[in-house]
Amino acid sequence: MSTTPENADSPEASQTDRSSLDLSAVDLSDAAERARAHAQLTERIEEYRAAYYQDSLLVSDAEYDELVGRLEDLETEYPELVTDSSPTQTVGGIVDTSTFDPVEHIGPMYSLDNVFDYEELRAWYERVRSATSARSKFLCELKIDGLAVNLLYRNGDLVRAATRGDGRIGEDITANVRTISDIPHRLDTDYPPAEVEIRGEVFFPVEEFAELNAALVDEGKSPFANPRNSAAGSLRQKDPAVTARRPLHMLVHGIAVWTPADDSHPEPAHQSEVYEQFRSWGLPISDYFKVLETIDEIEDFIAHYGEHRHDVIHEIDGIVIKIDDIGLQETLGYTSRAPRWATAFKYPPEEVTTKLIDIQVQVGRTGRVTPFAVMEPVTVAGSTVERATLHNGHEVKRKGVLIGDTVTLRKAGDVIPEVLGPVAALRDGSESEFVMPTRCPSCGTELGQQKEGDKDLRCPNSRSCPAQLANRIFYLASRAAFDIEALGEEAALALTAPAEPETPPLTSEAFLFDLTPEDLADVKIWRDKKVRGVETGERELVPYFYTRGTGKKPSAPTANTKKLFDELDKAKDQDLWRVLVALSIRHVGPTAARTLASAFRTLEAIRAAEHDELAEVEGIGPTIASSIRDWFAVDWHVEIVEAWKAAGVRMEDEEQDSAEQTLEGLTIVATGSLSTFTRDGIKEAILSAGGKAASSVSKKTDYVVAGDNAGSKLDKAESLGVPVLDEDRFRTLLETGSLD
Ligand code: NAD
Repeated sequence: MSTTPENADSPEASQTDRSSLDLSAVDLSDAAERARAHAQLTERIEEYRAAYYQDSLLVSDAEYDELVGRLEDLETEYPELVTDSSPTQTVGGIVDTSTFDPVEHIGPMYSLDNVFDYEELRAWYERVRSATSARSKFLCELKIDGLAVNLLYRNGDLVRAATRGDGRIGEDITANVRTISDIPHRLDTDYPPAEVEIRGEVFFPVEEFAELNAALVDEGKSPFANPRNSAAGSLRQKDPAVTARRPLHMLVHGIAVWTPADDSHPEPAHQSEVYEQFRSWGLPISDYFKVLETIDEIEDFIAHYGEHRHDVIHEIDGIVIKIDDIGLQETLGYTSRAPRWATAFKYPPEEVTTKLIDIQVQVGRTGRVTPFAVMEPVTVAGSTVERATLHNGHEVKRKGVLIGDTVTLRKAGDVIPEVLGPVAALRDGSESEFVMPTRCPSCGTELGQQKEGDKDLRCPNSRSCPAQLANRIFYLASRAAFDIEALGEEAALALTAPAEPETPPLTSEAFLFDLTPEDLADVKIWRDKKVRGVETGERELVPYFYTRGTGKKPSAPTANTKKLFDELDKAKDQDLWRVLVALSIRHVGPTAARTLASAFRTLEAIRAAEHDELAEVEGIGPTIASSIRDWFAVDWHVEIVEAWKAAGVRMEDEEQDSAEQTLEGLTIVATGSLSTFTRDGIKEAILSAGGKAASSVSKKTDYVVAGDNAGSKLDKAESLGVPVLDEDRFRTLLETGSLD
């Protein structure tokens, strides 16, 4: 089946019925039935393999691995089903002889066996330790998610490069590989082996992937589903000039044949030594390998890179653990598919495929109109995802996704989920293009750019657009502003756009502090109707801030409503910087707000300050200064200030002995969890002692304060030689201005 993105067949035409792949529905005691199930599983796996190795993708790797796991289980239980051509026995791959010349590898290219958890890893470790009489040490390295390539050097010259193909025969891609600048055409040594086959991975840097897809879409071509796919697609080009334009890189990680030039330059005895030799010859070697001995060390290595998976420029789908001693490797040997002396620990998948049901738009606090993907719910990196931002109309185009597409979705750790691209091969023609609205979906006002060249569209109706108002109210109640816990997203919506009454209690944040409990008595919203806790599938109008009254019992404010008014009262006495944040002035977040508050002390002084006076304040600068001046030039903004003031909001900070500036001039980064400071609390402590609280570590950082579970920032501090303080030492510095 031809499944390149450009000329995809309809998948329905070739796929067997999915339900038949569920082995629990098969009577395995019946030989004919299980043979049929085996054949169907094999056929499906081969189909996915064929697509995958032609740089297309029909399912995620996790789904593919799951299917292979099922086949392995079946074969383990019924070994008579194993044949030489079973996917469990063969190296998957294709040789496209219509585009490339076939070439025979001198030494076969293998796949790798997998383990998916520490229990499987320990079992493998024990087996290998006992087979090598506990003499083995292990070379642990990152499993690069790219395309396997075989380089053949004769007497130091690169004479051939090939894809893995079926492991025995690959595709000749020498001309394409020569365009990759990482790969030397000649080895930098006076004593190159007479012949050496070097294996490695060609990859596409994650950061440059989105740009490639955007360019393909501009050219009217289908984008790639993920970076691995784009590496393979970029390398397997008929025209090497196309490959040359792509930012491909290679890292080498293996040897097959090594024929020394003479006896005084033999092949090293350990794979780690081979790597050092490769490095000296100018070959690209990963910076991240380590030789380890105990299983605990190996697990630590795996855990470390599980956390730092995204700190390297290529995708990683696991860790490869190899016996370092080449003699012992030879002793253990190979199966028909993989070496017995290595295994790959696969990380939990961060990429899955799911259906893009719709693309909808939302309007944010500043009027930015953002399209977002509505997807069939899918579990990835431990959470269920059904929405993901698509940022703006250009980004939707750039990713090349259509409504109705199957899409690849990635959720990398705690990072927000991202739609990577469509599985173009699965399109059936029913997909439709997303059209960015020209009018605000909330208030109907015509959308526009704030300034020429902006990619974002905004609703200019800032004052009364219900969506913008609701988001501003939600924001001013956040922990970084007035800190009104009872005023969450739903309450903000109920106040600004309730289902009843027609005129909401709040039409501007100016009147927030004038609200009375009576104003909220009639506020109703739509809710899913439940009867004794069970969903009925119906919706009903219910009061939001009050209890449901009955004939006997009149409605009364809920506990949350009482809390809301208490918190509103407290908010009136908040520090000036919080008031500033609550005003939603562009670019004035908590840091700028604190700086402004300590420089000017009253809101009146900030309002009266000239542009240059504001800009001169360290940490403010001309952009924020202009933004403040522009904000105060708008009538309804000034009305907010006046109304809040009239309602009793304190708009100045009391004169107080300023805290001792023990951290003056120091840039400090806090990371991990601390026992006596919250995340915001430590920032506040640093700022009020005159220091700068930075969020990332650089050479300019003076100290890193590290608590429990400190992650990559701590590693970075160590690698840059930035002094690291524990909480006690930080307290000493804060209190005394010195560490002595
Ligand atoms: P593999 O990718 O799991 O592992 C083998 C390969 O890892 C080697 O050939 C080598 O090139 C590469 N590798 C990367 N870093 C390495 C390192 N440091 N040391 C040694 N080797 C390293 O196995 P495979 O046979 O290439 O492919 C099978 C996998 O490919 C599946 O587990 C699945 O993840 C994916 N796949 C997906 C589909 C799909 O439809 N989504 C189809 C086929 C295969």
